[in-house]
Amino acid sequence: MYNPKSKNAEEFISHQEILDTLKYAEENKNNLSLVNQILEKAKLAKGLTHREASVLLACDSEELNKQIFALAEKIKKDYYGNRIVLFAPLYLSNYCVNGCVYCPYHAKNKHIPRKKLTQEEIRNEVIALQDMGHKRLAIEAGEDPVNNPIEYILESIKTIYDIKHKNGSIRRVNVNIAATTVENYKKLHEAGIGTYILFQETYNKESYETLHPTGPKHNYKYHTEAMDRAMQGGIDDVGLGVLFGLESYKYEFAGLLMHAEHLEAVYGVGPHTISVPRIKKADDINPDEFDNGIDDDIFAKIAACIRIAVPYTGMIVSTRESAECRARLLKLGVSQVSGGSKTSVGGYFNPMPEKEESAQFDVSDRRPLDEVIKWLMELGYLPSFCTACYGSGRTGERFMEICKSQQIQNFCHPNAIMTLKEYLEDYASPATKEVGEKLIVQEIETLGCLKEKVSENIVKISGGARDLKF
Ligand code: SAM
Repeated sequence: MYNPKSKNAEEFISHQEILDTLKYAEENKNNLSLVNQILEKAKLAKGLTHREASVLLACDSEELNKQIFALAEKIKKDYYGNRIVLFAPLYLSNYCVNGCVYCPYHAKNKHIPRKKLTQEEIRNEVIALQDMGHKRLAIEAGEDPVNNPIEYILESIKTIYDIKHKNGSIRRVNVNIAATTVENYKKLHEAGIGTYILFQETYNKESYETLHPTGPKHNYKYHTEAMDRAMQGGIDDVGLGVLFGLESYKYEFAGLLMHAEHLEAVYGVGPHTISVPRIKKADDINPDEFDNGIDDDIFAKIAACIRIAVPYTGMIVSTRESAECRARLLKLGVSQVSGGSKTSVGGYFNPMPEKEESAQFDVSDRRPLDEVIKWLMELGYLPSFCTACYGSGRTGERFMEICKSQQIQNFCHPNAIMTLKEYLEDYASPATKEVGEKLIVQEIETLGCLKEKVSENIVKISGGARDLKF
């Protein structure tokens, strides 16, 4: 029985409700008056239900699809302006006891080199990341209670936050580790993490169990209820995602939105972010062996429909995707991208080609961060290294309230400008700096009452001040 308020995975993600939703969407995809009604509701930018959004996703009328894409672009502009937040993944350990069939870190893979960073090696990685200009990391680790216990993750987070190298600092550590206990989520919360990210991989229980044949991750219920435990542990920013390619994308899309509705219904706060990874080639993984791969056009449609359905949830696209694909998604709704990423353990400090052998998956966008920043600015975006919401306690419900009333722009825009200025001063190449300085002048012009204060702060940053924020 479908019940978004239930804390039982099989009730808040109801298989039957998803099947009914897909049937409803298929039957109504060309129902002009219903689609128009949904579009009218969507224009209010208060979000859509999983059923309504599924109708839009199924809709195959060229004219209506044009409207859907245009609306996604408008909502993106209204809620996020031209800001794009930057982050990098940091792989701590690829030891893993699970058997995920799409991931090269699966326990049966005996030929990839296994590696777990020491605290000294983490220092080296973080200094390399700081020297690129990063302020926000997502730490990643395989699931292995012996090699990667929670104590190791906590110690690593402390090491990362403590490193102050030149003007560098990591101001927000997001965490992508396997589902764990309320007690461990409490510890992560106390360690000061930003978002807890966990991809569902697939919402289809039967497929989930086949794709995760062995290890603790096999337990669908435990995995699907992880965000509830994270919330109970005090973490109020959680990040959802599915791995597109494993199951039918329409099924995953409905499941993803039901998960968001569940978090909203029970905790009053929807997901902070949604990630949209697609399966990529990796050591012993061939993405073509998975039947549900999606092409770039469907991928763009999914991004647009997510943007319309949950306007206040950030959307993340990683370097799994090419520059071209990322540019398309940025327009339709993506608000965060990684840049200069390495998906191998130790890959930032020691980027030797053979190291790539331990990479989790092939990266399509291999450009250095500086190039990504310049490219974003040339596309008309304002790259942001801001982490101020987190530092000022604007998380969870409070963040969502401000975001839903569109006031977040008053904080984010000036903070984005100031953190970009820090980046230009400390890390940018001359060519990037030239583009960035011009952009800052333009962006300051768009500010209302904060124009003067931000201009003063820009001068202070030129003079050496750091971490100024609203
Ligand atoms: N071990 C943690 C867990 O079980 O959730 C999370 C860390 S894992 C390094 C991060 C994510 O990478 C996984 O959740 C999965 O969606 C994604 N991933 C695994 N194999 C992949 C592949 N071949 N291509 C793209 N993404 C992949």
